[in-house]
Amino acid sequence: MLEEKGRTQYETPFLVDGENLALSLVNTEVMTRGKRGDLLMTSQDVARWWQETCQRHPEFDEVRRESEEPIMYDTALLNALKTLRAALRAIFNALVTGSMPEKEDVAILNAILRTGYTSLDLTEQGELAPRTHTTDPTQGLMLLPIALSASRLISQGERKRLHHCENERCILFFYDTTKSATRRWCSLGCMDRARSAQRYREAKQQQAAGKRGKREL
Ligand SMILES: [Zn+2]
Repeated sequence: MLEEKGRTQYETPFLVDGENLALSLVNTEVMTRGKRGDLLMTSQDVARWWQETCQRHPEFDEVRRESEEPIMYDTALLNALKTLRAALRAIFNALVTGSMPEKEDVAILNAILRTGYTSLDLTEQGELAPRTHTTDPTQGLMLLPIALSASRLISQGERKRLHHCENERCILFFYDTTKSATRRWCSLGCMDRARSAQRYREAKQQQAAGKRGKREL
């Protein structure tokens, strides 16, 4: 029943963080009204997420485009995706907090990266073009692009631009692409919610202080 509920409340758009596919995957875990929710509950959710994501960012689909095979959206892929997502969340969390990532999480990422290779392919026009392939023609078509984008973010991104949203009730990560590098929230909505929660707390404190003041008189 929970699963049904999750799906019908699906109006929440997938949170695609314009810049990075790995972050987009991690951000399929969300907080809705104080509860942790998962946008990827079924294989159909995965298919939808992937199609929406690739529509907005066709370049994310680099590996699949070089393959003849269609992606099989089955339970095995759903589970593999969740395993990768948990590892990425832990690694990003470690990067943001300045702690050491766990070897197990890095191993999960590396196992996928190892399925990737680049070769020079002869195009129909007779040109040689470098192309990315995977030795895992089923899950690799989706997992490898995500792992490659995580690898790019970790190795080429600026560490100080990777953030966890400052709203303490939010679990999203973002990569700050602003010139000033001073972004603190995943979205304006989150900033508003965090600020009104702060104002509410301050008002409560003032009220409590007022009451104490009266009693002391
Ligand atoms: Zn947020």
